[in-house]
Amino acid sequence: MLNIVLFGPPGAGKGTQSDNLIQKYNLVHLSTGDILRGELKSETRLGLEAKNYMSKGELVPDEVVIGMIDKKLDENANATGFIFDGFPRTTKQAEALDELLSKKNTSISAMLALEVDREELIKRLMLRGKESGRADDQDVSIISNRIKVYETETAPVIGYYESQGKYHAVDGLGSIEDISNRLYAVIDTLLDK
Ligand code: AMP
Repeated sequence: MLNIVLFGPPGAGKGTQSDNLIQKYNLVHLSTGDILRGELKSETRLGLEAKNYMSKGELVPDEVVIGMIDKKLDENANATGFIFDGFPRTTKQAEALDELLSKKNTSISAMLALEVDREELIKRLMLRGKESGRADDQDVSIISNRIKVYETETAPVIGYYESQGKYHAVDGLGSIEDISNRLYAVIDTLLDK
């Protein structure tokens, strides 16, 4: 199986690049942000619980998102691989993901981390907020908090995969196509091994 963690701060382009990667490598896209927004839209108990965190740009509790991923892995038991987008966001989530995958006799192949500077992130998120109407992309203070949460709680996940020899930094600036080609280059090298 090819299991990729597509990593990066909010606005790094994880969703856009996931769309290209799932097509090229026939993978299932698991975005915890998308799943949570779906739950919120359907006004499920989980969605309503998550709303309080999402509206402030805080992380939803680990147990909640780990449970969501566990369920999605079971629902896609025949997948040839997964792109994890926006997950894991804490070291605890990364450890739980390793456990869930090992129960299925598989593991993470690589973490591809998109690197984008802060000013560019804010610019991209504000633009996305205007185009999509996503509430947490329209308010500078919520955006700043999400970047801060990324730096304090999520960035340490890099070290987790680095110590496993699975971390690959990828320049997240440039055209969508250029960035996709950089990601393909890393994945193709892994597949050749
Ligand atoms: P995203 O679409 O990935 O930017 O996620 C939007 C929001 O959903 C985040 O600001 C968090 O509140 C929540 N969220 C998404 N993924 C996670 C996760 N793995 N752990 C905790 N909260 C998450």
